[in-house]
Amino acid sequence: MKKLQQLIQGHQEFQKLHHKQFAFEFDELVKKGQSPEILFIGCSDSRVVPDLITGSKPGDLFIIRNVGNFVPPFREDNDFHGTAAGIEYAVSVLGIKHIIVCGHSHCGACESLYHEIPEKKELVHVKKWLELGNISKSFVEENFKTETKTEKIRLTEQVSVVFQLENLLTYPAVAKGIEDGTITIHGWYYDLQTGVIKHFDTDTFEFKDLISQK
Ligand SMILES: [Zn+2]
Repeated sequence: MKKLQQLIQGHQEFQKLHHKQFAFEFDELVKKGQSPEILFIGCSDSRVVPDLITGSKPGDLFIIRNVGNFVPPFREDNDFHGTAAGIEYAVSVLGIKHIIVCGHSHCGACESLYHEIPEKKELVHVKKWLELGNISKSFVEENFKTETKTEKIRLTEQVSVVFQLENLLTYPAVAKGIEDGTITIHGWYYDLQTGVIKHFDTDTFEFKDLISQK
């Protein structure tokens, strides 16, 4: 695990090596602005590194990360909605073409659905946010016969990806993009242990190896 001092050292190396190596690309991105084709919605988990697992470079991915890679259903009110604002910006301003919701194995957010979160001020937003996973938990409990709790959590992580895709459709800009054929949505599931990404096949309702989709 990196300590803060190592981050500074890492940044020094970035300046010396990578920024110089990609000087042209960085310059172009500044001059022309960003125009990513892909919105990646992933978990904040430190073990899920979108750019690393997809071999992406600066300018490739517009990324939203939050606890549990949840997409809250569209709600028009005066509250502050970070994830919703990111989705709207990516779709309505950047004109992205693909939206990927990427869940992952060993997700603390999905696991915590099976524990009681204490009622205390220090966790008030966590507790509320995790309510977004309840529907996936109930779906697994009602529709799957599971032997172990681990199995239940793995299934919840995958089912949750599908529910987040459904929630994406509640955003007018996303729904319109899908209807017009300008946006495609994708459900991915990244296994931390094997490093394999699977995608949700909407024809068979199964997660299949992403590489075979190419
Ligand atoms: Zn997670």
